Amino acid sequence: MTDKNHHLDTVLAQLGNNTDPQTGAISCAIHPSATYRHPGVGQTTGFDYTRSGNPTRQTLEEGLAKLEGGTRALVFASGMAALTTLFLHFKKGDHLIVSEDLYGGTYRVLDQVFGKFGLEATYVDTTSVEAVKAAVTPATKALLVETPGNPLLGVADLKALATVCRSHNLLFVVDNTFLTPVLQRPLELGADVVVHSATKFMGGHNDLCAGVLVAKDEELGEALYFLQNSTGPVLPPQDCWLLIRSLKTLALRLERQCATADKVARWLQQVDGVTQVYYPGLKDHPGHDRMKQQASSFGAMLSFRVDTPERARRALERIQLIAFAESLGGVESLLTLPAVQTHGDIPEEERLRLGIDECLLRLSVGIESADDIIADLEQALRG
Ligand SMILES: *Cc1c(COP(=O)(O)O)cnc(C)c1O
Repeated sequence: MTDKNHHLDTVLAQLGNNTDPQTGAISCAIHPSATYRHPGVGQTTGFDYTRSGNPTRQTLEEGLAKLEGGTRALVFASGMAALTTLFLHFKKGDHLIVSEDLYGGTYRVLDQVFGKFGLEATYVDTTSVEAVKAAVTPATKALLVETPGNPLLGVADLKALATVCRSHNLLFVVDNTFLTPVLQRPLELGADVVVHSATKFMGGHNDLCAGVLVAKDEELGEALYFLQNSTGPVLPPQDCWLLIRSLKTLALRLERQCATADKVARWLQQVDGVTQVYYPGLKDHPGHDRMKQQASSFGAMLSFRVDTPERARRALERIQLIAFAESLGGVESLLTLPAVQTHGDIPEEERLRLGIDECLLRLSVGIESADDIIADLEQALRG
């Protein structure tokens, strides 16, 4: 059994263990049952119907709440399902302030889905506390921040933003997908809700799609649970088990991925044709010092700019070990062209203003040998 005082890597390794005293099973059970027998009229075992609650999902949710330091975690069928449920917490006429350096799908659902229902959003540079303050209106209800940002890895000051949120009574939401609680714990820095696409680092093997919300206080956790149970975007029990299994190695995977990302970033800086490298672990990155204070490492995501769109396209065609694919955070390294792939739904003018053009490549660093990753990039970027 794990207790409160264990380190995160211990909690992760032991996640879901010893949940069945009858058999002593180490790995937790998968409960596929959709429904549960009532012991009597008006009585329950704690489980009635799997949309409302499932033992395997509960094991995972309790583990995630502990890892992020929240009171309640909810697990969803995808990161977008988690975000959609969160946005359902707001009503027509409410206004959100959102990072402009943002996952493209979050922009799309706000712009093209929730926009229709009258939920308003303003996109600002959340690395600037002043820009956030200036965007607050009487209708503003929440701030949603990704840090580091996607794809340019801008770093927002979570403690300072938490102060702004408290003084304007805003819900402070942090998308912690890029770092996970192993590297950054936003609830401890003043956030109210943490969001994850568990498809990324938490799942970590590019074989699972899942999302997470973690609430700091019970009342909000209950409100979000009400929305999850009412709309039904839950993660199936088999996938809950797979995510529990994946989380056991999260700390280990990240340690390797961060170390390799650092090596690759430093190597890229001296490659002909590479004009800029965006990695917060580099001293000249504008968010370096801030990230050092609020996170325990710099993550495994980096972006870089090459001199011509042709070089970027050629690199994507030439890579052999690294896959040209969307997504991130898995054990396999992936390279993508955000302007076309992950951020294609952001209007061109806006994209270019942000610096997301066809010379920008984003690399998700896996657990392969750093030498092999570098060798693959070397031949792909040459000439
Ligand atoms: C991928 C991603 C999402 C969306 O999650 P899905 O699991 O793909 O639905 C949200 N936020 C960030 C930062 C992401 O990378």
